[in-house]
Amino acid sequence: MDDVLIVGGGPVGLFLAGELARAGCTVQVLEREPDSDAAWKSLPLGVRTLTAGSVEAFHRRGMLAEILTASGYGENVFLPRSLHFAGILVDPDAIDVGRLPFRLPSPAPERIVTSLEALESVLGERAAKLGVTIRRGVAVSGVEPHDDHVVVRAGADEHVARWVVGCDGGRSTVRGAAGFGFEGTDPTFTGYAMHVTMDDPEKLRPGFNLTPEGMYLRTYHEGHVGINDFDGGAFDRSQALTLEHLQEVLRRVSGTDVTLTGVRAASTFTDRARQATTYRRGRVLLAGDAAHIYSPLGGQMLNLGIGDAVNLGWKLAATVHGQAPAGLLDTYTEERHPIAARMLDWSRAQVAIMRPGPLSQAVQGVIRELIRTPDVATYIYDRLSGLALHYDLGSDQPLVGRNAPAFRLADGTALADLLPDGKGVILDFAGSLRDVAAPWHDRVRYVNGPAENDLGFDAVLVRPDGIVAWAGGDVPSFTEAMNRWFTAGVR
Ligand SMILES: Cc1cc2nc3c(=O)[nH]c(=O)nc-3n(C[C@H](O)[C@H](O)[C@H](O)COP(=O)(O)OP(=O)(O)OC[C@H]3O[C@@H](n4cnc5c(N)ncnc54)[C@H](O)[C@@H]3O)c2cc1C
Repeated sequence: MDDVLIVGGGPVGLFLAGELARAGCTVQVLEREPDSDAAWKSLPLGVRTLTAGSVEAFHRRGMLAEILTASGYGENVFLPRSLHFAGILVDPDAIDVGRLPFRLPSPAPERIVTSLEALESVLGERAAKLGVTIRRGVAVSGVEPHDDHVVVRAGADEHVARWVVGCDGGRSTVRGAAGFGFEGTDPTFTGYAMHVTMDDPEKLRPGFNLTPEGMYLRTYHEGHVGINDFDGGAFDRSQALTLEHLQEVLRRVSGTDVTLTGVRAASTFTDRARQATTYRRGRVLLAGDAAHIYSPLGGQMLNLGIGDAVNLGWKLAATVHGQAPAGLLDTYTEERHPIAARMLDWSRAQVAIMRPGPLSQAVQGVIRELIRTPDVATYIYDRLSGLALHYDLGSDQPLVGRNAPAFRLADGTALADLLPDGKGVILDFAGSLRDVAAPWHDRVRYVNGPAENDLGFDAVLVRPDGIVAWAGGDVPSFTEAMNRWFTAGVR
């Protein structure tokens, strides 16, 4: 029997599979699609922006170079900070990252533009190298939890594992079959992403365009157009996406008479915003779109899913190995649920601002003014880049619960060099924890030496997911933190 069965081999399922395998679990992934390639996964429809939190997570697992190569980047990657709020661009020059607390320069870029195809190929290869079995063409139809195992059905076949994680996307079968609540708001628009040929593309303005009928987006990629049509999410997804339909919607929303001559690929989505009420029911867990869906506005959903996987991986692995302190696995929901709930609200706020009509247009005007100020531009950047991530770990120390700064020791060792195998790290800059840390050496890497910049801390405890679990110099509180996150001396 495998330790963990992951349903869904999208980016979140594949990344989580690698996290678990790296930590010594036996893992199987069941993926419905027989092939990994699909038109909507490659450019331009498959374009996805990875924000700072995800990029740093990949960097810390030693995968960044592969992802950059697969995404077509050369050696020096510099992408200007670029983001929008409700289709209103944030001026990169107004963003002041110097204000962000506890920032140290990292070699990882703050943003990567990639494709689902490129990302899934790297994550799939990594997982396979780590020993994960990936079975394609297996559509899971049912889940039956028991006290010490879970049975997963795929047609007439049965698969059994000690734990199951549903990473099977927004229409998750696992979520429904295991009885998870999924609450939130209904859609207000149908979104279209299309790759088309046009007679007269110059009739569409580049970038985001808020119009009296909705919003359209023309990207730098020739023929790549997005539309938000505020039809209440009425488009029936079982219908074919014909050229005539796409042209009618595009003409109406853009207020032009642009002419489509061909459709290479097209897909639809909505702004339905729902979230599972818990991410764990016994031995069944959810991650990624299976746990939360909302509109792709602001490009956050994949990043949120990667954050789920990096948070869940080490906790589930410790539970599988019998090394988890009491309640560790439940901290997955406690930490990740509020983060997604906040994102859902940010997404709803953006939709509300984009709705056609004089009230929303008035709010758009106010936002345009505010967004020019460094305070607002920096705040939005902070939130949408993932840099502001902060879990409430019950500490007054403001670094605790944040993504660890990119500490570098005087000998050149970087924090990212210490995290690829997925263990936690004690960075003992002042050398005062050597003896007290000894019982945990099997579980947590101990490193001692002065830092290039210790930001005023004697020592920092970094969890396997790169989150600061404790910082300071006080031995009793260090021991308390170790007991909370790790069990000691497992041989
Ligand atoms: C137009 C658009 C643009 C976007 N842009 C961005 C962006 O720039 N940045 C960002 O962060 N996010 C973006 N997103 C969202 C992002 O694509 C998703 O959040 C992400 O793909 C979710 O990953 P996942 O692995 O959770 O789910 P998915 O990618 O949906 O993968 C789920 C997998 O499960 C499989 N599966 C489903 N049911 C079953 C079953 N019963 N049995 C077995 N397998 C099953 C599916 O075949 C699929 O491979 C965008 C979305 C859209 C629609």
